[in-house]
This record gives sequence, C-alpha cells and structure tokens, in this order.
Amino acid sequence: MSLAEGVAHPITCYGHNVLHQPCAPVTEFDESLAALVRDLFASMYASEGVGLAANQIGVGLRVFVYDCPDATGDHQVGHVVNPILRIPAALAASVTEPEGCLSVPGQHANLARPGLATVTGTDRYGHPVAIAGSGVLARCLQHETDHLDGIVYVDKLPAAERTAILAAAGLNATYSPPSPSRTARCRRSP
Ligand SMILES: [Zn+2]
Repeated sequence: MSLAEGVAHPITCYGHNVLHQPCAPVTEFDESLAALVRDLFASMYASEGVGLAANQIGVGLRVFVYDCPDATGDHQVGHVVNPILRIPAALAASVTEPEGCLSVPGQHANLARPGLATVTGTDRYGHPVAIAGSGVLARCLQHETDHLDGIVYVDKLPAAERTAILAAAGLNATYSPPSPSRTARCRRSP
C-alpha cells in the first residue's frame, strides 16, 4: 500500500460526538476502505501519533492503524478492520504508564492497563489478522479498540482528574460538536 497517497485529516477532539459512541462494523471491503486506511496512516504520521482510530478523523467505522514499539523496542506497523480485543488473563499483569491521545492534545495521565493484549480482525481485503502486543503496543491496541467502542482513555480516569485534563487541553467535558478552532488546535498538537 502506498502511504504517500493518503490525505491527512484534522483530528477530532474529545467532545465530538463521533468519539463518544460505538463505531459501526465494516461490511464493504472496497476502495473506500482502502482510502480510509491510507488516510488514517497519513493523519497519524502528520500528527506524530503511534496509533489512530477512524473516528479520530470523523469516520465512525471499526478501523484503526498503528506504528508502535513492542516490549522489545521493535516498531510494529499495521491496520485492523473490525478488531476484537482479548487480554490473555494468566499473563495480564497490570502496568501503569503515562498515556496520551491526539484527541486530548498535549496531555498525559498514568493509567493501569494489562501488559499484554491480542487483537484479531481482518485487513482491508477481509483476510484474517491477529496481533499479539506487548509493551507500548499492548497499550496501543487497547487504547485504539476503546476508541472504536466510544471510549477515550480519560473516561477511565477519576472524574476530577478527567475534568482537570480536559480543561488543561482547552476542551469541554460535555459531548458536543467541536468548534472549528478546537479541531484546528487538535491538529497542531503532538
Ligand atoms: Zn486516542
């Protein structure tokens, strides 16, 4: 796939409706899906992210991309359509690390998550894929699948901490369509 063909889109911010409702399963494995994957990669790299879910560029479909180191430091790059997250229970000791999100620009918070995660789904052609993630990749797989379920990482924080982080990001905790300036601010932030 030529990533150079993708178009970088503005990142939707916390508060935009599309981030707060479950995304729809993909049923058409066509050129528009291929274009969405290309645009997700372009948008992720333009924003210097390590993962990006489709609803973060305003598309309510169950697709995400990632370019993210695992526990060995090797970067894993890929995309998943209709992901299903599984935590290997026996090995899922919780790890607390700082986590951030392009949709809550400039902010980070410590969040405990299982240290291993597996995602199954398909590629853009409908062929099965399975990704076993450790390290940052395990966190990324969980973070991006959460996005597709309408959950942003700050939703997992205590309410007072969430409110403070959203305020620091210049965002409102109410779910409402973003103003153009808010969208622009997300786009510029790392
Ligand atoms: Zn995110």
